[in-house]
Amino acid sequence: MAHHDQLHRYLFENHAVRGELATVSDTFQHMLANYDYPTPVQRLLGEMLVATSLLTATLKFSGDITVQLQGDGPLKLAVINGNHQQKMRGVARLQGEIAEGSTLREMVGNGYLVITITPTEGERYQGVVGLDGEDVAACLENYFLQSEQLPTRLFIRTGKHENKMSAAGMLLQVLPAQSGNRDDFEHLSQLTDTVKSEELFSLPANDVLYRLYHQENVTLYEPQPITFSCQCSRERCADALMALPETEVDDMLAQDGEIDMHCDYCGSHYIFSAADIQNIRHASAGNTLH
Ligand SMILES: [Zn+2]
Repeated sequence: MAHHDQLHRYLFENHAVRGELATVSDTFQHMLANYDYPTPVQRLLGEMLVATSLLTATLKFSGDITVQLQGDGPLKLAVINGNHQQKMRGVARLQGEIAEGSTLREMVGNGYLVITITPTEGERYQGVVGLDGEDVAACLENYFLQSEQLPTRLFIRTGKHENKMSAAGMLLQVLPAQSGNRDDFEHLSQLTDTVKSEELFSLPANDVLYRLYHQENVTLYEPQPITFSCQCSRERCADALMALPETEVDDMLAQDGEIDMHCDYCGSHYIFSAADIQNIRHASAGNTLH
């Protein structure tokens, strides 16, 4: 059965625990389409995509979250960005060969995971964790522990389904001000951890929840669609160019005759001629006068 990417939120009636279930396979395939990443990098991006979707769903305000891995290993950078509307994008950059079956540590080398939360209004928050966990989920659980947030567990599955790279996952979190009963949380975490890739990739959320928690009363809320979407635009590129020193922009124009701004996330090109730059400078000069 074809089912599109969705984020589901659910609540246990008899425990102070909430859950999320995200399926992101369409978005994931979109993200991989323009690149020929080695399989371990594909899976890692899938894990990060699921994690970012689950994390943005915990936001209590509008804004976005960027989950970024960086280090000195053959994988220089992997980044996923998503917002409260579940519009997701992501990209990886390599600086060496990545062997089949490489672990997170082998790919990233000496590195860390950076979580940046940017509210639409208000201050940006950044958290950094080392790569102590064996996978992205474990590193993020450490992040929740270290930043003294609510106890949180992530369950992420990636792999081939019907011959396509697929990714999905679940999150459990203790409800605020009710973090008393850790036994409930441990028990529910153990149940959730039994979820199989095939179940997450192919079954409706209702069925997955029933299989995992058939003895529990669970309320499943209306899902939210998850989509691949890039927020890049010609205007944003122009703003970035105007933030550079004029001489630098002039040098780029002199060298290539035009400026080609490329978006790594979605593959878009934005071309600026000398005349375009003149117009943008006029417009921005006009703006500063008022
Ligand atoms: Zn873009």
